[in-house]
Amino acid sequence: QKAEWKKLKDEPSVTANGKHYTIAANIGTPDDMKGVLENGAEAVGLYRTEFLYMDSSDFPSEEDQFEAYKKVIEGMNGKQVIIRTCDIGGDKHLDYWDLPEEMNPFLGVRAIRLSMQYKDIFRTQLRALLRASAYGSLGIMFPMIGTLDELREAKKILKEEKDKLVADGVKVGDNLQVGMMIEVPAAAVLADQFAKEVDFFSIGTNDLIQYTMAADRGNDNVSYLYQPYNPSVLRLIKHTIDGAHENGIWCGMCGEAAGDNIMFPILLSMGLDEYSMSATSILRIRSLMKQINTEDIKELANKACYVSETYEENEKLVEETMKKLG
Ligand code: PEP
Ligand code: MG
Repeated sequence: QKAEWKKLKDEPSVTANGKHYTIAANIGTPDDMKGVLENGAEAVGLYRTEFLYMDSSDFPSEEDQFEAYKKVIEGMNGKQVIIRTCDIGGDKHLDYWDLPEEMNPFLGVRAIRLSMQYKDIFRTQLRALLRASAYGSLGIMFPMIGTLDELREAKKILKEEKDKLVADGVKVGDNLQVGMMIEVPAAAVLADQFAKEVDFFSIGTNDLIQYTMAADRGNDNVSYLYQPYNPSVLRLIKHTIDGAHENGIWCGMCGEAAGDNIMFPILLSMGLDEYSMSATSILRIRSLMKQINTEDIKELANKACYVSETYEENEKLVEETMKKLG
């Protein structure tokens, strides 16, 4: 079967009835680009820039960051690259960044919250990103946004840095998109309002599930509560996608769930536009997409959100739906 998948490397990602949905790759460093190209990704849906900070003994300079971002953007040859601003905090720490200890790091000063407290570090990263945007098609994405205020502040700082660069005669891409992760339940609930202020969403299920179920994503003792197919999680995902589409923006997913065989048909039924996953999952999902006619799974999303009551029911629902498709 793997040999079958390999043939799909240069094929577009289409359903049995010819609808195209983007299958993208998640990366951690520019070195991951080899796998991205070998597996025929149509975009980079998430570049987790914190590894640039973690693999370094001090804050990476604007120049070092610019080089790394440029390499990935150029490597994709015009296809879109979504780069997420630094998501340090939670379980990710830096030896050279002496931050106060917190009782609940996942609920503490993490990601965009940290960027807002250390704006110089944030501005350096944004300048590197803006400069790199001249070399292809870039989307800048903010992690862990929970309120409109946070989003507006981040966008304001981005605009200030952009204006400064332009005033200095530095070239900035003219097709730059600005988006946000949907991984805090508050943002999912207000997706319709957020959608009016960004170009795209990317749903981060790894965190969205942990925060919705109040179950630490790394704690084995509560892993039974970490339920991707729980109807509550699915309703938030559907609400997010609907909020995006009703306001004319696209919605992707870069959490692990995007490359999951049970989750995929549900997401397709919801009309999710972009599926970003580890490069090694791309051809498996492209093959699965090819087998599904979206007309045959029209009811799946509503059933999974509003009829099923449990995680297990949804697992069975998808298995039975897929069996019927043959
Ligand atoms: C997520 O939360 O789903 C996500 C993609 O981000 P990370 O796993 O880096 O927190
Ligand atoms: Mg996350």
